[in-house]
Amino acid sequence: MRSSEILVFNASVGADKVQSIIDQNNGSCPFCNYKEEDKILARKGEILLVKNKYPILQDTFPTVLIECNDCQADISTYPKAHLYSLFRFAIGHWLEMDRSGLYKSVIFFKNHGPNSGGTMRHPHMQIIGLKNLDYLDFGTTIENFTGLLIDKQPQVELNLSTSPRMGFYEFNVVLDDLAQIDRLSDYIQDTVHFLLNYYHRCDSYNIFFYKIADRIYAKIIPRFVTSPMFVGYSIPQITTRLEDVARSIKERYYSQRYNIAQER
Ligand SMILES: [Zn+2]
Repeated sequence: MRSSEILVFNASVGADKVQSIIDQNNGSCPFCNYKEEDKILARKGEILLVKNKYPILQDTFPTVLIECNDCQADISTYPKAHLYSLFRFAIGHWLEMDRSGLYKSVIFFKNHGPNSGGTMRHPHMQIIGLKNLDYLDFGTTIENFTGLLIDKQPQVELNLSTSPRMGFYEFNVVLDDLAQIDRLSDYIQDTVHFLLNYYHRCDSYNIFFYKIADRIYAKIIPRFVTSPMFVGYSIPQITTRLEDVARSIKERYYSQRYNIAQER
């Protein structure tokens, strides 16, 4: 593997990143009432896209998307108007960076909770331009987004992976038409709500976005300790409970559509 095909973590910046950010902000969260006007790239109400001043990954253009002012808020509880506004803004800026021609590819993802790999509690996402890497060169296939159907509406569906990237439970939203971003947002909100409220005391998740051909895919993954099968051998696993989990979310959130009598 050539060095241009690997993402380099800048240890000198990364080591004490969070503590130094908090120290510089007199001990409080730097994303609450964000004040660095010169770092703001775009805004829509409370939603801000800002330049990350700690570029811990080499050869990248890192940005942070601050979702709102409330440090304790989460996607699972946003009012619909804010939810839709957030994902229209986020996906719009991700695709704009992608189209700019300045990067080989642009990654867009969210970390939430202690097992997610994230460091800041304040609700945020990241959009990062990669100068030398295409994120699709590392084994992601269309099959990773196919699975047991949970719900479907015109041009958008929610499923549970039967060919996951890493393993166990990976929820996929497949979007055929950008006009349906609000439905994609609904599916992401429902899935995150399910994970944080009804799923094995889960407190951590990631959302990863992918653009392949003309489709957009969002993969929502509950995070626990990573399976050794994956760490050691890159062997993804699925479980025998896949159908139970797909049925559980279907019954809780889409029962009216399927005419299943079940209380949410
Ligand atoms: Zn905060």
